[in-house]
Amino acid sequence: MKTMKSLLIVVVVGVVFFLSSCSEPLRNNNSTEPDNTEKSAETVAEIADSCTLSGDLTEADIDGLMKMREEEKLAHDVYSKFYEIHNYVVFRNIAKSENIHSGAVLYLINGYGLEDPALEGEGIFSNQEFTDLYNQLIEQGKESLTEALKVAAFIEEYDIADLLKLLENTQNTDIKRVFGNLLRGSEIHMRAYSFSLTRLNESYVPTIISAELYQDILDKKANFATGTCTYNYSFTEDLSDAEKEGLIMMREEEKLAQDVYLYFYNLYKTPVFKNIAKAEAAHKKAVLWLLNGYAIEDPMVEGEGNFSNQAFTDLYKQLTTQGAKSVEEALKVGAFIEEYDINDLMNLIEATESNNIERVYGNLLKGSEFHIKAFTNILKFRGETYSPTILSDELYNSILGK
Ligand code: ZN
Ligand code: ZN
Repeated sequence: MKTMKSLLIVVVVGVVFFLSSCSEPLRNNNSTEPDNTEKSAETVAEIADSCTLSGDLTEADIDGLMKMREEEKLAHDVYSKFYEIHNYVVFRNIAKSENIHSGAVLYLINGYGLEDPALEGEGIFSNQEFTDLYNQLIEQGKESLTEALKVAAFIEEYDIADLLKLLENTQNTDIKRVFGNLLRGSEIHMRAYSFSLTRLNESYVPTIISAELYQDILDKKANFATGTCTYNYSFTEDLSDAEKEGLIMMREEEKLAQDVYLYFYNLYKTPVFKNIAKAEAAHKKAVLWLLNGYAIEDPMVEGEGNFSNQAFTDLYKQLTTQGAKSVEEALKVGAFIEEYDINDLMNLIEATESNNIERVYGNLLKGSEFHIKAFTNILKFRGETYSPTILSDELYNSILGK
């Protein structure tokens, strides 16, 4: 059915090619100054549906357009809501820009005679992935301005990674031009959110894009403006069963960490548990980005302590029981969970050939190393020592020394 549809489009587009006198309606943005991006995106939106486009579209191009149309709307809807909640003007400005981005994608959708997937109403999407994400992100960002800014930076990461992936997989010049503009827009937004966090004495740690790319974006060295992306974000077409199972496992393993830490926070009110639980929530979403990207069904079930993997349900019960004895025991359980994570992540990184998986797991691994250090240091401060049970003493000590 889908093949029929795209075949039809190719035919229609082919015919239109001869009829259309439309010459390059989208000016190429050759400017190397990334801050001109918003203006050029606006021009794109203004001339929407004034002209029919004439490139070849693949199935992947069509899926990419559908996805980005709603992904830009997701950003818009989340930032609008955050502006309403926190009254922070950066959210209002960037929400406007996301509206323009979403319009730029609509320009392509209309130009190619495709059906617009976008629905009316804030938080309403035809793609279920975005409906779920919207609800989760709002829930998380409601808590404080800092959390909202972190959620916003996460959305920009999500956007950037998706755009890089789509750009690498398309030959269509219209898509390349518009997505290139969106990419430069996201780069500007990422900087704005990052600087806002710095002003609040907070910093952002990326989970989907690499730490190197994140730093390049902040330093305006990301090379998006030249169109020569040196970042490898393409997806390996076929994952092995082990890679797929690894993703399904890690999604719930990050949830296990989050749920256990929340349980301990409710019991002891020790801030470290709350802070690390938030980091685990971000890790969980980074794995979701991979699951969505590879069209693997999300195994996650709602509710603290609930897992589709029975091993995690059992582990949750054991670990919470053990940690309920004292705050020191809970801290040791925390260190144990991080050991468990580090070990699994290292094995999975070794076994994967996918750039995306390797990069995201690498980010998660850095996070886990940071967490195990935090738990160890607090234990030390309380006169307790931690001895690793999964990791070798040598590896454990090398992590502490980092
Ligand atoms: Zn953005
Ligand atoms: Zn952790």
